[in-house]
Amino acid sequence: MQFPCGDVTIALDHGNGDVSFVSHAHSDHLNGVRRKEKIIASEETIALAELKGTQHNLQNVKLINAGHILGARQIIVENDGSKAVYTGDICLRDNLIAKGADIVECDHLIIEATYADPFYKFPPYEEVCEQMAKWIKENYEKGANIVIGCYELGKAQELVKLLNNYCNIAPLVNEKTNRFCEVYEKFGVKLDHVLIGSDEAEEMMKKPFVALVPMRNGKRYFARKIAEAFNRETLVAIATGWAMRYGFNVDMAFPLSDHADHHDLKYYIEQSNAKEVEFFSGDGSSLLGNKPLNPRLSIF
Ligand SMILES: [Zn+2]
Repeated sequence: MQFPCGDVTIALDHGNGDVSFVSHAHSDHLNGVRRKEKIIASEETIALAELKGTQHNLQNVKLINAGHILGARQIIVENDGSKAVYTGDICLRDNLIAKGADIVECDHLIIEATYADPFYKFPPYEEVCEQMAKWIKENYEKGANIVIGCYELGKAQELVKLLNNYCNIAPLVNEKTNRFCEVYEKFGVKLDHVLIGSDEAEEMMKKPFVALVPMRNGKRYFARKIAEAFNRETLVAIATGWAMRYGFNVDMAFPLSDHADHHDLKYYIEQSNAKEVEFFSGDGSSLLGNKPLNPRLSIF
C-alpha cells in the first residue's frame, strides 16, 4: 500500500516507494525498509528497528501517536485537497508505557483489523493487570518460578513495567528483550530487569524467579524443563489478546493486548468520518456498518 504525496510515493510499512513510512518496529512492518535511504518514522522506531536510513521530511505529511508500542505513529498525508491516514497497529487506551492513539478526521482511512471480530471486547486494562499481578505474586510467594511467554518488543516491556509496579519484581529477560528494554530506557521509560546469563541473574536463580520468554517457549514443556533444571515448581503463563479465544498449553493465559479491539476500531472509524476505509490486516468487514468497503481491500 502506498500514498501519493505530490511527486513522491510514500510506501506504508514496506520498501516499494520513493520514501518509506515505518509505523513501528514490529518485524511484520519492516519488509524491505532496511535498504531504504529515506525514512519517515519516529526516532524511537529508528532506534528499535536499527534502521540506517535518514529521516525524511515532507510537506503535507504529519505523524501522530498510535499507542501500541514505544514510538508507534500513524501518518497523515494531504494530497490534492484530500486527507489520508494510515494507522499501522493502534491501541486507543493508555497502557503502562504508551499513551492511547490520537484520532483525526480524514477522507481516506487505512486501518488495522487484527481484532476486528465483534467477539473481541477486551476486559478493562487495569483489571487484567491486577489479575495478572495477583496470580504472579501468589505463586511466586509460594516458592514457584514463573515463566511468561510474550512478544519480545512491546509486550515484554509492558510486562517488565507491570512486574516492577505491581509486584516489585525485576524479571529475567533474554538478550533480544534486553536490547529493546535498553532503547526504551534511552527514551525515558524506566525498566528494572535482569539479563539472563549475567552474574546478577545467576544469583537470582538460586531462589524463585520470574522470567519473560519468547512466545514459542511459553508452554508447559518448557516450564517442565525449568522445573527439572532448578528442582523447583515452575508455572507458565502467556499475555496476548488471542487468549480471549484460543487455548494455549499454559497454566494461565491473560488477555493483555496492545491492539484496539472490535469496539475501539469501530469507534475510531466512526470518529474519523472517513468516506473510504481499507484494512491492511485481517477482515474488517464487520467494522463498517453501512460505510462502503473499498474494493481494494488488501492484506499484506
Ligand atoms: Zn505491531
